[in-house]
Amino acid sequence: MQQFSINEKGYYGEFGGAYIPEILHKCVTDLEEAYLRIIGSERFKADFDLLLRDYVGRPSPLYLSRQLSERYGARIYLKREDLNHTGAHKINNTIGQILIAREMGKTRIIAETGAGQHGVATATVCALMQMPCTVYMGRTDVERQHVNVKKMELLGATVVPVTSGNMTLKDATNEAIRDWCSHPADTHYIIGSTIGPHPYPDLVARLQSVISKEIKLQLTEKEGRDYPDWLVACVGGGSNAAGTIYEYLNNDKVQILLAEAGGKGVDSGESAATIHLGKPGVLHGCKTMLMQTEDGQITEPYSISAGLDYPGIGPIHAYLAQVKRARVLAITDDEALRAAFELTRNEGIIPALESAHALAALEKMTFAPGDVVVLTLSGRGDKDLETYFKYEDDYK
Ligand SMILES: *Cc1c(COP(=O)(O)O)cnc(C)c1O
Repeated sequence: MQQFSINEKGYYGEFGGAYIPEILHKCVTDLEEAYLRIIGSERFKADFDLLLRDYVGRPSPLYLSRQLSERYGARIYLKREDLNHTGAHKINNTIGQILIAREMGKTRIIAETGAGQHGVATATVCALMQMPCTVYMGRTDVERQHVNVKKMELLGATVVPVTSGNMTLKDATNEAIRDWCSHPADTHYIIGSTIGPHPYPDLVARLQSVISKEIKLQLTEKEGRDYPDWLVACVGGGSNAAGTIYEYLNNDKVQILLAEAGGKGVDSGESAATIHLGKPGVLHGCKTMLMQTEDGQITEPYSISAGLDYPGIGPIHAYLAQVKRARVLAITDDEALRAAFELTRNEGIIPALESAHALAALEKMTFAPGDVVVLTLSGRGDKDLETYFKYEDDYK
């Protein structure tokens, strides 16, 4: 049987690994040596489970959508990560990582953020654990995402605007890595998705795997079997998708459908469809598929949805796409907006724009009658309201 977990060097096939400056070698190896032991320990499991239940509000419901089911002729369930505290799946990861940081004796947390969602999820758990928190954010993003900056500051975090490069996520990440290099002993760097040097992609996937663990129990109760025919999720860096598929990777009865951001169209020059457009390369510590020019310069990605606006993708997803374990569709801004307005009007659920990409992918599929489909609704649309107000009239 094909193996979908990482090998001992941190690779999924040719993707993954740890490409880091020498000065970070010790931090990364310390984490690598500690993470499996810590997340396997009784103490971690008890603390993590309790916080996921009483602080985050898990298990998140698995909701059978009648409207979507009728429309697509299958049984379509929504995994409601939008109902988590702070409004998305990201908190599952930040809670887990701050518990690991505490266990490793770290006393300070840093993070990078693009749209601010991961920054807010990190600032939240730092307030909870009373740990100082510094969040690096490109100055362009600081200006674009004013409310999230204010939220992080309200939660007690220091937000550092980064003025190098394009002043966006890539530059913020470089700055966070620089900080980590200068404070390797006391600082833990909370990466927000299944990206970065090994062990981060595997660590984040394991922390998010609570999503598929719950799906198993919930499907058993609702369908009398613990697996669906299809799993559907959007991918930016890939953490909500990794959590959704984690427990099912080796079950070949379960098909995997991933939605990446097509922006204004895969061939428009304004896109973030990494699997469609990317080539192998190294960014932020791992080898993966990257959008890049002929001579290897990273291409500036574009998507209407800030959470999918990333030029790379987690190495696990690059691998799953390469070996055809997952099918990846590129969804345009227009298709995502249409799907978001439809869910809002037909179900009374305003989804995050990222999640709307997964919803729009349903449109491109043909399901067999009786197929069980689980789609992860990664977050709620509160943060996207300005965009929805702007386009509402165009989708009447
Ligand atoms: C950040 C974010 C994403 C994209 O991140 P992944 O790591 O790919 O899951 C998707 N949905 C929402 C709601 C987000 O906030």
